[in-house]
Amino acid sequence: MLTDHSSDEFNPWRNAEIRFNQAADRLALDSGLRKVLKTPTKELTVAIPVVLDDGRIEVFTGYRVQHSIARGPAKGGIRYAPDVTLDEVRALASWMTWKCAVVNLPYGGGKGGVICDPNIMSEIELERVTRRYTSAIIDIIGPEKDVPAPDMNTNERTMAWIMDTYSMHKRETTTAVVTGKPLNLGGSRGRPEATGRGCLFVTKEALKTFHIPPTKARVVIQGFGNVGGMAARLMAKEGIRVIAIIEVDGAVYNDNGLDIEALMKHKKATGSILDFAEGTNLTAAEALFLDCDVLLPAAKENVISQETAPKINCKILCEGANGPTTALADSILRDRGVFVIPDILANAGGVTVSYFEWVQDRQGYFWNEQLVNQRLEEIMVESFRDVSQYARDHKVDNRAAAYMLALDRVAFAVKLRGIYA
Ligand code: NAD
Repeated sequence: MLTDHSSDEFNPWRNAEIRFNQAADRLALDSGLRKVLKTPTKELTVAIPVVLDDGRIEVFTGYRVQHSIARGPAKGGIRYAPDVTLDEVRALASWMTWKCAVVNLPYGGGKGGVICDPNIMSEIELERVTRRYTSAIIDIIGPEKDVPAPDMNTNERTMAWIMDTYSMHKRETTTAVVTGKPLNLGGSRGRPEATGRGCLFVTKEALKTFHIPPTKARVVIQGFGNVGGMAARLMAKEGIRVIAIIEVDGAVYNDNGLDIEALMKHKKATGSILDFAEGTNLTAAEALFLDCDVLLPAAKENVISQETAPKINCKILCEGANGPTTALADSILRDRGVFVIPDILANAGGVTVSYFEWVQDRQGYFWNEQLVNQRLEEIMVESFRDVSQYARDHKVDNRAAAYMLALDRVAFAVKLRGIYA
């Protein structure tokens, strides 16, 4: 029962487990298959000795977990943080398996992490850590094995170092070993905008189910960073009214729709979205509970909980962030009739364009931005429809449908491949 986990409401790994179990129960997966789907295929822990700038030697710890390779190479980011744990990396790797399966990419799921604090490290120390970590995991990564990408505290610079280190060892330039690379090193056009753009596509599909024309829709967005800022910008361009933006220090509101480009300039100039001439300041809580058509959390996890879910006032919840809703809040939203576009679908635009990057690298043939966006739209819209159809067929909510569809697809691949002995 969900209530058994109430003390763990904010534990994202517990939430992932609850949703896995619910989907596996609904699919009546047998216990053997459940074990296969749950157990990570490979986990590697490595020591990363590095000479620091002051001459001292430090030994960092790194992880790479491949949760599943049933549908293709493992895919997932690498995060650098002082508190990364193997458990966290494991859970994030499984999350990637379900996300890739829900948008039907030919990938499994993986994730990596290095216990370090990038805020107190120099660029050269970060480069040394990255290169030594890459050489330590080199046997298990590769374009056909496991394709890392950026995550918390890593970026395209980090990906360039990984690609270079891998290529030096292999004696050939292998751009497809990582995604999220700089554009002139095999990166894809449209990647920085991809997650926000994916949110736009699925939001437009959801609005259709409510017969709300985009130009009549009122949207509240939490987070004005890569995902939230991009989604806001793209929505505004399409005439969708973004009536409030919520940031760490408060929110800004204009019922006629905020001028997003002007707000971006204001934030750049002042360091905050507050005191914007064409908007009114609100508290973050006031804005989160505004009456709106779409609420798009794109900041952090656990924003919608047992406590906040009863006060949410949107028709559609588009989960741009990973894990913005706790498992205990799911039933509250369902009972209140909120149409949820679950994170493993809503924010899959990022990994989808990462997939395009990998495809382009392997072909050595690069697409223009229009083609990237068009193919992203096809995949996001088709995935939205798959999940909606699955929800209707099985009479479950969208989150349950997304998890069931993902588990079903991975289970099917496992069954087709058989258990090698
Ligand atoms: P980001 O750091 O670029 O932006 C996050 C923004 O949220 C920042 O502007 C930050 O100030 C704001 N924020 C932080 N705490 C907040 C709070 N309590 N209230 C309001 N605003 C707050 O990060 P991002 O890349 O946009 O990622 C946002 C979320 O989307 C994360 O959950 C991430 O895992 C998820 N996500 C990102 C991508 C991607 O491609 N960037 C892909 C999939 C999922």
